[in-house]
Amino acid sequence: MSNSISIPRKLPLLLVEDNVLLPGSSMRIPVRNMINMNMVKSHLLSRNTLSSTIVGVIPREPVDDSQTDELSGLHSIGTAAVVVQVTGTNWPRPSYTLLVTGLCRFRREQLLQESPFPIATVTQLDKLSDDAEDDLNSNRELGNLAENFREQASKLVDMLDVSIPVVSKLKRMLESVPSQHLPDICAAMVKASYTEKIQVLDAVDLLDRFKKALPLLMRQIEGLKLLQKAKKDRALVIKDSRKEGGRPGNMRRIFRGKMKMDIDDDDNEDNDELHDLEAKIKQAEMPDHAHKAAIKELKRLKKMPQHMPEQAMIRNYLELMVELPWSKSTKDSLDLKQARKDMDADHFGLEKLKKRVLEYLAVRQLRKSLKGPILCFIGPPGVGKTSVGKSIAHTLGREFHRISLGGVCDQSDIRGHRRTYIGSMPGRIIQGLKVSGTNNPVFLLDEVDKLGKSLHGDPAAALLEVLDPEQNNTFTDHYLNVPFDLSQVLFIATANNMNTIPPALLDRMEVIHVPGYTQEEKVNIAVQHLIPKQLKDHGLTLEQLQIPDDSIKIIISRYTRESGVRTLERKIAGLCRAVAVRVAESSYQTKRDKLDSQYSEKDIKNDKLKDITHDASALAHPPEMPIVIDESAIEDILGQAMYESEVAQRLIHPGVAVGLAWTPMGGEIMFVEASCMKGEGTLTLTGQLGDVMKESANLAMNWVKTHARMFHFDEKEISKMDVHIHFPAGAVGKDGPSAGVTIATVLVSLFTKHCVRSDTAMTGEITLRGIVLPVGGIKEKVLAAHRAGIRRIILPKRNEKDLQEIPNNVKGELSFIFAVELEDVLRAAFEETLPSLEPAVSSKL
Ligand code: ADP
Repeated sequence: MSNSISIPRKLPLLLVEDNVLLPGSSMRIPVRNMINMNMVKSHLLSRNTLSSTIVGVIPREPVDDSQTDELSGLHSIGTAAVVVQVTGTNWPRPSYTLLVTGLCRFRREQLLQESPFPIATVTQLDKLSDDAEDDLNSNRELGNLAENFREQASKLVDMLDVSIPVVSKLKRMLESVPSQHLPDICAAMVKASYTEKIQVLDAVDLLDRFKKALPLLMRQIEGLKLLQKAKKDRALVIKDSRKEGGRPGNMRRIFRGKMKMDIDDDDNEDNDELHDLEAKIKQAEMPDHAHKAAIKELKRLKKMPQHMPEQAMIRNYLELMVELPWSKSTKDSLDLKQARKDMDADHFGLEKLKKRVLEYLAVRQLRKSLKGPILCFIGPPGVGKTSVGKSIAHTLGREFHRISLGGVCDQSDIRGHRRTYIGSMPGRIIQGLKVSGTNNPVFLLDEVDKLGKSLHGDPAAALLEVLDPEQNNTFTDHYLNVPFDLSQVLFIATANNMNTIPPALLDRMEVIHVPGYTQEEKVNIAVQHLIPKQLKDHGLTLEQLQIPDDSIKIIISRYTRESGVRTLERKIAGLCRAVAVRVAESSYQTKRDKLDSQYSEKDIKNDKLKDITHDASALAHPPEMPIVIDESAIEDILGQAMYESEVAQRLIHPGVAVGLAWTPMGGEIMFVEASCMKGEGTLTLTGQLGDVMKESANLAMNWVKTHARMFHFDEKEISKMDVHIHFPAGAVGKDGPSAGVTIATVLVSLFTKHCVRSDTAMTGEITLRGIVLPVGGIKEKVLAAHRAGIRRIILPKRNEKDLQEIPNNVKGELSFIFAVELEDVLRAAFEETLPSLEPAVSSKL
C-alpha cells in the first residue's frame, strides 16, 4: 500500500450483506439490491465521476424480510476500497459485479444523502503510512505477536501446494508485506464467520487486531493438518483394500471407521460420492472413447469448488454416462414358429401385416444384421400398430420403448442440447436407451408423419441420421458428446398418413399398410382379445360378466365410429367398470346376509351394524350372475346411442348424395349437398376444399351443363342460377379427385329434383368427357360405407380388382356397381327414380 493515498472525506457507500471486506484484500461483490445498483449506475458508471472510484464498503447485518428500511443494520466501521473492475450487462436486465480492493478502515459519521444511494462523511481510521512499523519496533508485545503471526502465516502457506501459481504468489507477498497488514490479509484469507471478520474489522488498535486474527489463523492451520492426515489415511486404506481385493463399498465403510475425525462432513460425503461415481464408471463397460471422456469430466468435477452450478451439470452428465447400456444387450431368441404363435395370440386378423413382419424378421435373422429399410406401419388409429410393435419386441426377447414424435419440431428433441445450456438434456433416443437399459431394444417411433419443422432445425434430418445404418453406429447426441452405437436397435415407425412423412425418411422405410377393421373383425377382436383383457384388468371373470355378440355389434355401430378398435375397447372398459361395482356390492351384500344370520333383528335395528347396512336398501336384490349385457344394459351404462344411421334421413331431399372419402383416420362417408338460387351462374364451394377437389367440381358442373338436354332441362336455365356445393365437415380440410362422380350426381339430383337412392354411396374421378377413373383407398372406403349401413356402392370399373382385399362377409352384404362412364353412375344412383334419364341414355346407346 502506498503512502500517497488518502481517502476522501465523503464516500459513496456500497453495502455488503453478510460479508466483510478487510483492508489489503480483494473481493467480488455482486450488485443485488437497488441501493447498490443506483450507486453503480449513477456514480461508478456515470462519466463525470469516473475518476473517483473509491467507495466505502460497509458491512450490513443480514436483513430479514420484515426490515423494510433499506439502510438499517449498517455497521459503523467500513473499509474504503478502490473499485478495480465493473463487469456485467444491461440486458435483459442490469446485473453487475464489482471487483474491489480494500485500502483502510473508516468510521461512518454523518449520512449526507440516502437516495438514490447513500453518501456519508467518514473518518479514516488506519494510517496509510509506514509509521506503524515504528510501533512494532517500540512495543515489544506487539513486536513478538507480529513475529509469531508471520511465522504462523508462512507455516500455513507452506502447507498449501506451492506448485499452484496463486500459492507461490501468496508466499512471495506474505514475505514482503509489512507486518501491520498481516492480520487483515490473513483474516480475509482463512475460513471465518461474519462475526469473526467483523471483530477483526472493528479492531482499530493493531495489537487488538493481531490478537483477534491469530486464533483464526491457528484454527485454519489445525484444520489443514487434519485434512492432510485424513488424505494420507484414505490413501492407505485404499491401498490395503486393493491388496485384499476389497470392493469400493466396503472400502468406504472401513474408511469411515478409521476416520473418526472431526472434519467437515460435507467434504466427506462429497468424496464418497465421487468415489462411487468413479467405481460406476469402471463398471459401466464403456468403449474407450466414452471412458476417456467420463474420466476427464470426473477429474474436472474433483477439482471444482463445491456448490458451483457447473458441478451439478457434470454430475448429471456422469450419472447418465454410467447408466447408459454401453455393452448391455439382450440375446435375440427368434424362433419363427413361436413368433407366429405369439403374434396370433396377441392379435386377431392382420394376416398381411403378420406375414410381412415375419418375413422381415426371417431375413434379418439370416443376414444376421439389422441393416436395411426399417418397418413402417401406416394406418388409422387403434388398428394395433403399437401393439404389433410390442409383440415383435416380446418375440425377440428385447426391451420395448415407444418414442412419440407427434409435434416434435426441434432437432434437439432427437439429438439433445449441448451442455453449455443450463437445463440441457439428452435427446429422446439416448433417454430411451437409458430407460430400456439395453443397447438393442425395439424402438417404436410413433407418428413419424406428425414431425414438425421449426427454426431450431429439422428433426427429420436428425432422425435420418438415427435410422441410417451407415451412420448410426456413431450417433452423437449433443448432450452426450461421445458417439453411441445404435446399430443394434430395431426401429419400427408408425404413421397415420403416408403423404406427410418426410420423403427422405419414407425412402428408408418399408411401408406396411394396416387398413381398418370390418364390423365382423371388430366383433372377433372384442371377443378374443378386448373383453378378456378388460375382464382381467377389472378383476372380473366370464362367470360374472358376459357380452353377447349382438351387444358388441350394437356398441360398435351406435357408440363408435372408427376404423380401429380403441374406442370400442374404452366402451368395453366402461361396461366392465360398471359391472365391477355391482359385483363388489353384491359380495358386500353376501357378507351382510351372513351377518344377518349371526345377529338378531334387534341388533340391526339398534344400529350396531350401521356401517355395514347403510347402503343395504340399494342392494335389496343382488344381481344374478353372470350379468349379461343386453341392449338396455348398454344404454343404462353407456348412455344414449351416439351415432344413428343418418343416411336415410339425409337423402330425402334432392341435391344430396353420399360420397366416400379416405382420411388418415380411415375411410369415411361424406354427405355432399348442393342448393341453387337465381343468379348469374356462379359456383360456390365450401368445406375447406383443396385445389384438386375444386377442379373436380368445375369438371362436374361443365359435364352436367353440356349434357343438360339428356335430363330434359335447359343449359341456359342453369346459367341463370347460382349453385352452392358444400362438403361437411366444414372444419376439416379435404382434397383429392375422388369426389368427382358424387358432385356430378348431386348436381343432377338438384336440377332434376330427384332424390338419390338412400342406400347408395359412390366414389370415382371424372374426366371432362365423363369417363370414370379409378381412385385409391377402396378398402377403407368400402368398410366405412358398410359401417354406415350403406348397401350399394358405385365404384370405377378399374377398381374392381381392389375388392379382393375386402373380407367376404362384408362383400356378401354389399352390392357393387362398376361404372365406366358418368352415365353408368347416374343410372345406378337414381335407379327408377329418374325417368327422364333412361330414354336419353338408351337413345344415345
Ligand atoms: P395404434 O398404435 O394403431 O393406434 P394400438 O396398437 O394402440 O393402436 O391398439 C389399440 C388397442 O387395440 C390395443 O389395446 C390393441 O391391443 C388393440 N388391438 C388393435 N388391433 C387388434 C387386433 N387385431 N387384435 C387384438 N387387439 C387389437
